[in-house]
Amino acid sequence: MLKQRLRALVSSPTRTLATCLVLLLVTLALLGPLLWGGEARTPDPVHLNEAPSAAHPLGTDNLGRDVLARVLTATRPSLVMALTATLIAVVLGALVGALPVLLGRRVQRVFAAVLTTWMAFPVLLIALFTTILLGAGAGTAVLAMGLTMTPVFGRLMQTLTAGIETSDYLVAARMLGISRRRRFLRYVLPNIAEPVLVYVTLNVGGALLALSSLSFLGLGVQAPDFDWGRMLGDALPAVYTSPWTTIAPGAAIVVAGVAFGLAGEAMAGAARSQDTPVRAARTPAPGTAPTTTPPAVPDTSDALLTVENLRVDYPTGSGWTTPVRDVSLRVRPGEIVGVVGESGSGKSVTAMAIARLISSPGAVRAGRLDFDGIDLAALSDKELRTRLGTRVAVVFQDPGTFLNPALRIGVQLTEGLLNQGRTNATTAREKAVHLLRQLRITGAASRLAQYPNELSGGMRQRVLIATAQMAEADLIIADEPTTALDMTVQHHVLETLSKRCREDGSAALVVSHDIGVLTSLCSRIVVMYAGRVVEELSVDTLLKGPAHPYSQALLASLPTLDSPVDQPLETIPGHPPHPDEDITGCAYAARCPRARDTCRNDLPRLEKVSAEGAVACWFPSAPAPATTRSTS
Ligand code: ADP
Ligand code: MG
Repeated sequence: MLKQRLRALVSSPTRTLATCLVLLLVTLALLGPLLWGGEARTPDPVHLNEAPSAAHPLGTDNLGRDVLARVLTATRPSLVMALTATLIAVVLGALVGALPVLLGRRVQRVFAAVLTTWMAFPVLLIALFTTILLGAGAGTAVLAMGLTMTPVFGRLMQTLTAGIETSDYLVAARMLGISRRRRFLRYVLPNIAEPVLVYVTLNVGGALLALSSLSFLGLGVQAPDFDWGRMLGDALPAVYTSPWTTIAPGAAIVVAGVAFGLAGEAMAGAARSQDTPVRAARTPAPGTAPTTTPPAVPDTSDALLTVENLRVDYPTGSGWTTPVRDVSLRVRPGEIVGVVGESGSGKSVTAMAIARLISSPGAVRAGRLDFDGIDLAALSDKELRTRLGTRVAVVFQDPGTFLNPALRIGVQLTEGLLNQGRTNATTAREKAVHLLRQLRITGAASRLAQYPNELSGGMRQRVLIATAQMAEADLIIADEPTTALDMTVQHHVLETLSKRCREDGSAALVVSHDIGVLTSLCSRIVVMYAGRVVEELSVDTLLKGPAHPYSQALLASLPTLDSPVDQPLETIPGHPPHPDEDITGCAYAARCPRARDTCRNDLPRLEKVSAEGAVACWFPSAPAPATTRSTS
């Protein structure tokens, strides 16, 4: 992560220039006074006001001191003052802007008013006032500058903390009884640090300019000490006779101001690039060989969605981890396909990759990622919006974060349809109410005026499902769409989902860890284990008896009407491998009762076994004779 950020800081000529300039200034601040401090302070009556020469590249001042040595030496006081003023502003800003988030609404309002009033005072007024109170000097100027900048930082942090005030983790921390101090230091500050740091860098340049102005006016650094502003002020009377004495410190102020400004921009750019989603299939993870295995289930003639050899890589501290590899699947128009597997098997990553929602630094590659003839991998984000519109809808596992907390439910449900001009507001609202009612949300009509935080988790999940259905999308990608629902509602919601899919002709790719949910909803199921597809089969075949031992184990762990109530359900011994584990053979071999040496040494490929079925197993079970098996 750090390496990427550092790389982002030199990723364009401007960013590189900014980084180099800041590094140069810091080096000068550290070494300047040591190397040239003596020369800068020693008067030389023989060489007064001399023009630039080989001995004095920028000439000498009215006391015969070397101007270049003085400019270089003044880097330290100028920077230190600017940094100290900014630090004061950040610390006070955090106390006034960020801390109130932990102190309750009333305190927050008081502090907001304080900040607004504080912002109204101009820099010079505060500087003059502080100088009158404390006397002119470097310390006074720094304090005045810090106090002037405080409300700006305070306001920024107030805005940033407002965003995390209601975050689940902060609320959870309070419930756990974590002290205010710790919550502030460990929960609030780290979460607002990045934008604040960018703003700090941008403002150091501004502080430097303002402090130089104060010194220039005689309110800052006092002789015999000097910073760039003081040098400029001292040299001004001789601006016509020896202009070099003014040009040099003036240029230093400009360069330093620009350097910090550019560095701030560069940091903001680097932070932004962290958030830009990577285009699918365009960013190969270094050091990973391209997938060459042809997909086992290439029968794609009539498919709406075709995924071939999907692979997702994420960078880790020591290389890359590949939670999804070689995944191929297809969904026909109107078909509901399920993806099942234990937690961590790569189901969500697969669904997100198909929906083009894997963000940087994750890298997605696929031999084919095709939706109704549109190559999803090749689309830019803009094309994705214009060409797909609402044709693909996504229901996420965590409903909380995917509903906009600032918009009423009604607006979120209808805006997709209205944006496209497909219907009018009244019809859209009626449809929304109808869908919510179908999904058994009580008081459906009045819910439209509510905000997401006024609904329960289960209701929010159903609102997401309704949003997906509003658009009558051709494909709904749903990741654990019913995990937040209780059993009775879950059953009903699944029924509604499949009924609406049938009515609208929508296809769906439904991800779940619960094979029971999928058997009641889907016609075909893809079983995933450790990031790979291990079996693909129709629900009928699944219920008769799947071929892969892992699918069999998943099915056996499902309660059925025949399960003896006095015996515990079967569980799968062991646990799935970590994506980083280096496995040569079948990933399931370690837990498989049927595993032999072949399984441990060679990876079984997904082989087609019937029109609808494929299995990746060296010793698959023969198709089982029809038995009656009912699932819950
Ligand atoms: P599930 O099948 O339970 O939905 P996921 O698809 O969420 O599993 O995760 C599969 C694997 O991918 C997990 O081991 C997880 O740690 C890893 N993973 C998911 N997202 C990331 C990420 N952003 N960075 C690194 N690894 C990730
Ligand atoms: Mg998941």
